[in-house]
Amino acid sequence: MFDNLSDKLDKAFHILKGHGKITEVNVAETLKEVRRALLDADVNFKIAKDFTTKVKEKAIGQDVLTTLQPGQLLVKLVKDELTELMGGDVAGINLSGTPSVILMSGLQGSGKTTFSGKLANYLKTKKNKKPLLVACDIYRPAAINQLHVVGDQIGVEVYSEPENKNPVEIAQNAIKHAKANGFNVVIVDTAGRLAVDQEMMDEIARVHKAIQPQETLFVVDAMTGQDAVNTAKAFNDILNFDGVILTKLDGDTRGGAAISIKSVVNKPIKFVGTGEKMDAIDVFYPIRMAERILGMGDVVSLVERAQEQFDEEEARKIQKKIAKNEFGFDDFLSQIQQVKKMGNMKDLVGMIPGASKAMKDVEIEDDAFKHIEAIIHSMTPLERSKPAVIDVKRKARIAKGSGTKIEQVNQLMKQFEQMSKMMKMMQGPGGKNLMKMMGG
Ligand code: GDP
Repeated sequence: MFDNLSDKLDKAFHILKGHGKITEVNVAETLKEVRRALLDADVNFKIAKDFTTKVKEKAIGQDVLTTLQPGQLLVKLVKDELTELMGGDVAGINLSGTPSVILMSGLQGSGKTTFSGKLANYLKTKKNKKPLLVACDIYRPAAINQLHVVGDQIGVEVYSEPENKNPVEIAQNAIKHAKANGFNVVIVDTAGRLAVDQEMMDEIARVHKAIQPQETLFVVDAMTGQDAVNTAKAFNDILNFDGVILTKLDGDTRGGAAISIKSVVNKPIKFVGTGEKMDAIDVFYPIRMAERILGMGDVVSLVERAQEQFDEEEARKIQKKIAKNEFGFDDFLSQIQQVKKMGNMKDLVGMIPGASKAMKDVEIEDDAFKHIEAIIHSMTPLERSKPAVIDVKRKARIAKGSGTKIEQVNQLMKQFEQMSKMMKMMQGPGGKNLMKMMGG
């Protein structure tokens, strides 16, 4: 995420490291590079200029030059300013209505339908809500089908009236349906166009006026940079929306939209989309994003994800197996599944402080466990539960079956052995505290 920007900012701060003494001149030079980095990331010119002016004023105010570690202080000032620019505090969504009505707006292709599904899934699984999805696109039958597919995937009901050509009526009927059937959140997905046009704006304005949503969210593709900001402005002028959803942050986005949008429309980014799957949704925390941009990682999010996936019962089962020396490849596989649920590897690595920089030239496969899984799948049940039986002949067969090399099988066997040993050690005397520390 935002690799290029992170890289350039890092280089800007290097100017200070290269000098024995820090002077007003090289602080100015550093900030000039910071500004250039922001412009390259497609941040609006005025915003980038204001940004460096503010940081400079603060730096002078705090007398950066006389502090012990001026470079670090400057990085901190940039981080604080970035956080402020992206909205400061985290913004929640208003779920106060009965039902709470959420209206989704945005251009076609921005990721509106996908996000409607993600939000419904999030509210259902994390907030214990009973959401109803509503298909209000009267122009593209495919859009209605798409929402039904999404709804089936996450087990959320979808309300649609394929014959009705009046989106206001559909939305109103959906809310009636929700009230009568105990749904407490209604998420209305609307029609989008490829570009802003009057007809679309009039239509969504009518729906907005008729259903008076608690939340109107504007969905925008982060990859579109400055265009994202302009579209946001056009929609905000009509809808005065409550928050922004930035999608496709997993792609090769430069970051300009994330950084500029708040100060242009003065509305917070509430969520981000980080993939096509239904669980690729994150609450937007300005400070965590600023830290990631500056290569400081995002340990808090990483730990949160680990905690979310942590299954206590499963952990206890595994602990028992280790104690009885019964930990096998099937258990190893189920551990891998748990890690995979945390997100894709590239994304996870980006959350480790310093790691995204250190590993920027390392090709990380989206599915880093593919080979390991293939190898384990090629093992017989006996081999999985009693790895000791795997001899050279069996290894050759497993390699062939999984399309891997025998060295890869060997490597996995070795890793597995080391892991089993370590786990046994943690079970022994003195190991209890270690397990506790790791959440076991
Ligand atoms: P809509 O026309 O606004 O409803 O957009 P869709 O929900 O149909 O999304 C358009 C395309 O973008 C689809 O192929 C989605 O799978 C994809 N998409 C949506 N959100 C994300 C995201 O966060 N990351 C990535 N990589 N793709 C996304």
